[in-house]
Amino acid sequence: MPESLLHHPSAPVTTLSEDETLFRDTVRQFAEDKIRPHVKEMDEKGVFERSLLDESFQLGLMGIEIPESYGGSGGTFFEAILAVEEFSRVDASAGVIVDVQNTLVNNALIRWGNEAQKKHYLPKMASSTVGAYALSEAASGSDAFALQTRAELKGSEYVLNGRKLWITNAKEAGLFILFATLDPAKGYKGITAFLVENNFPGFMVGKKEDKLGIRASSTCELILEDCRVPKDNVLGEPGKGYKIAIETLNEGRIGIGAQMIGVARGAWEYAVKYAKERKQFGKSISEFQAIQFQLAQMATEIEAARLLVYNTARMKDAGMNFLKEAAMTKLYTSQVAERVTSLAVEIYGGAGFTKDYPVEKYFRDAKIGKIYEGTSHMQLGTIAKIILGS
Ligand SMILES: Cc1cc2nc3c(=O)[nH]c(=O)nc-3n(C[C@H](O)[C@H](O)[C@H](O)COP(=O)(O)OP(=O)(O)OC[C@H]3O[C@@H](n4cnc5c(N)ncnc54)[C@H](O)[C@@H]3O)c2cc1C
Repeated sequence: MPESLLHHPSAPVTTLSEDETLFRDTVRQFAEDKIRPHVKEMDEKGVFERSLLDESFQLGLMGIEIPESYGGSGGTFFEAILAVEEFSRVDASAGVIVDVQNTLVNNALIRWGNEAQKKHYLPKMASSTVGAYALSEAASGSDAFALQTRAELKGSEYVLNGRKLWITNAKEAGLFILFATLDPAKGYKGITAFLVENNFPGFMVGKKEDKLGIRASSTCELILEDCRVPKDNVLGEPGKGYKIAIETLNEGRIGIGAQMIGVARGAWEYAVKYAKERKQFGKSISEFQAIQFQLAQMATEIEAARLLVYNTARMKDAGMNFLKEAAMTKLYTSQVAERVTSLAVEIYGGAGFTKDYPVEKYFRDAKIGKIYEGTSHMQLGTIAKIILGS
C-alpha cells in the first residue's frame, strides 16, 4: 500500500496501516502454521487443542484491546476483527473462541468493569483465562430478557439459581459474564450482569452439545445451584445488565461478521485452487465460463461483505453509532458465507460432499452465522425499526 494512502483522511476502509498489516500477517502466519494442521482432528473429535489457546495468549491475541497497563496488547477493535477473520479463514471454531474473548468478554469488562474488577480480571484475561458470555437459556433465546435465572442478595453474596444454555467456550472458560434477574416481575429492569468464576461454589458446566458446525468450539449448558457470587462481582449496576447485554452484543455482531468473511474466504480459496487443478473434458474446470462466473460472483460478495465488516469496525473505533450497520453486517455476511461455502462444495463436485476434502466443513461452519448473537430475523427486525424510525 503506498505510504501516501495510509494517512489519507479518506483512505479506503480496507487500507491497513503498517501496524494493522503487521498484525494481520502475524495472525495469518500463526493460523496457517499452527492451527491448520489441527483443524480436521479438532472437528472430528469436537475438542479444541489446548496448546493453541496457550499460544494465542502468548501472542497477545486473547487480550487485543486490553490496555497495556493491565497486561494486554493495547490494540484496537479493528485489530480484534482482523484476528477473528484470519483465524476463521482457517478454522471457524478458533475464530469464535478469539471472538467471544475479545469482542464480548474483554470488551464488557473494559467498558463496564470498575477499577478493582479491571485490576483483578483484565491481566488474567490477557494472559491465561478464557472468557465466556452467558445470556441464553432454554426458554429465552431471541427473547433474551425473558431469562429465568434468579439472583438473590444474601449478606455479602448473591445466590444464583438456574440454567444457561448454548454457552460458547464453557469447557475452557475460567470467567463467565453471566446474566440473571433480581426479580422476574421487573422484566428487563431486573437483569443484572455477574462476573462468575468457574470455581465458585454451586457453579457447574453441564452437557456439551454435539453440533453440525464449529464443532471444536465447546457449547455447553451451565448449572447454577445456590451458586455464591460476591456482591463485588456485579458488573455495572444491579438491574442494568440489560444495557450491558444489548451493547456488548452490538459489538459482538461485527465479530461474527468477521468470522463469516473469514469462513467464506477460506472456502473460496480452496475452490479456486481445486478449479485450476481438476480436469474434465480435457481441461481445467476453471476454463469453463460457468465455473469462472461462480468464482467471480463469490469473490464479489466476499468483497462487499468485507467492506461492511471493516467499515462498521472502524465506525466503532471512531466512537460512532453503529447499531444499524452491525445488524446489517451480521445479516449480510452470514448470507454470503452460506452461499459461498455452498458453491465451494459444488465446485468440488462429489469430492466436496466428502470429509476427505476441506470444503464441507466450511459449509457446516457457515450455518451458525445466521443463528447466534441474534438470528437473521432479529437483525432484520433491528434494521427495520431503525430505517422506519419506529
Ligand atoms: C453454537 C452456538 C453457540 C452459542 N453461543 C452462545 C453464547 O456463548 N452465549 C449465549 O448467551 N448464547 C449463545 N448461543 C445462543 C444463541 O444466541 C441462540 O440460539 C439464538 O439467540 C437463538 O435463540 P433460540 O435458539 O432460543 O431460538 P428461538 O429464539 O427459539 O428462535 C427460533 C426461530 O424463531 C425465530 N424468531 C424468534 N423470535 C422471533 C421474532 N420476534 N420475529 C421473527 N422470528 C423470530 C428465530 O429467528 C428462529 O428462526 C449459542 C447458540 C449456538 C447454536
